[in-house]
Amino acid sequence: MLTKTIHKSQPVRESLLPYGQPCLDDDDIAAVVAVLKSDWLTTGPQVERFEQAFAAATGAAHAVAISNGTAALHACMNVLDIGPGDEVIVSPMTFAASANCILYQGATPVFADVEPDTLLLDAKAVEAKISPATRAIIAVDYAGQPCDYTALQTLADRHGLTLVADACHSLGASYKGRAVGTLSALNCFSLHPVKPITSGEGGMITTDNAQLAQRLRVFRNHGITTDHRQRSESGAWFYEMQSLGFNYRMTDIQCALGNSQLAKLARFTQRRHDIAAHYHQAFKALDAVEPLRVREQRTHAYHLYVIRVAGEREYWYRRLRELGIGCNVHYVPVHWHPYYQQRLGTRPGLCPVAEAAYTAILSLPIFPRMTDSDRDDVIGAVTLVAEELSS
Ligand SMILES: *Cc1c(COP(=O)(O)O)cnc(C)c1O
Repeated sequence: MLTKTIHKSQPVRESLLPYGQPCLDDDDIAAVVAVLKSDWLTTGPQVERFEQAFAAATGAAHAVAISNGTAALHACMNVLDIGPGDEVIVSPMTFAASANCILYQGATPVFADVEPDTLLLDAKAVEAKISPATRAIIAVDYAGQPCDYTALQTLADRHGLTLVADACHSLGASYKGRAVGTLSALNCFSLHPVKPITSGEGGMITTDNAQLAQRLRVFRNHGITTDHRQRSESGAWFYEMQSLGFNYRMTDIQCALGNSQLAKLARFTQRRHDIAAHYHQAFKALDAVEPLRVREQRTHAYHLYVIRVAGEREYWYRRLRELGIGCNVHYVPVHWHPYYQQRLGTRPGLCPVAEAAYTAILSLPIFPRMTDSDRDDVIGAVTLVAEELSS
């Protein structure tokens, strides 16, 4: 129930501005059409090309294409031999997939709280959750800001754990001059349409470890040690399944689109930064609006632009939507989901910082194709709601 009544006034715009949207041009479409006219639809030359371009763009030694970001996380848990009896520490301020990947392997997700001003995994909270059963830490670059990788890696090294980056928000960002994709042993990306670049559905894992890269390639192809293209080129029919994998392959159609999008990443990121800078400037004047903090020595990918609002979040959400601004909430803390509560017994109170933040955050529209006028509509609507609440 809202305690504040909704004011009826004209929307600031005619159609709802979504919080995120892909940016596809004619050359993206041409790249896909070219594959449709070629000999390969899946596991052909486009997969390798995209992997090489992605590795080069991030500076990682290896990039492995996989069907989506969730599969990327699952594959990482698998190649680290995470299994029943093992614990993996993860942030609750994320999409459920960041923790579901641990359950896929029969292991136990352990939620550690986030820092109040960035909503990034708090290294001190992680340390307090380390037990003899802990095997890995999954750091989530929430909203597109890289976590404190120095602190998390130090902790991981001291306790013999592997650090995995859920970088599904942060492609294009950097930490202490190092690109996201090189910040931990295994780095996972999503190429879903709202993410920094898209291939429709798709994912990528980067690593400097050749052995892990090879295991990831086998895992995405049923556990079979050669792929269709390798057999076709060598003329051999024989293949062997040596472990249990999945069909998590990315198609040539998707990789052609991904590759075409990757070439525009710097431009997309720049546009997101421009929009964020205007928001930041405009919201300084509003006491009821507090953007999340960006730490030193980091560049942000601004997958999301998250604000903390004073007053009822639900009022803000409904009012902004009514004004034509498609804001959203990221995220319901993962340990609050009924499945987690029933299966793991997680309860509200487990991660108080993330839980308090959840009741006050909103993600405002930000995507490369937004016009200056769209951006000003968002600023105008946020300012209007802030004024209504203070009147
Ligand atoms: C999108 C996302 C995923 C899952 O990626 P999919 O490609 O949708 O499977 C995982 N983690 C985070 C933080 C995400 O935002």
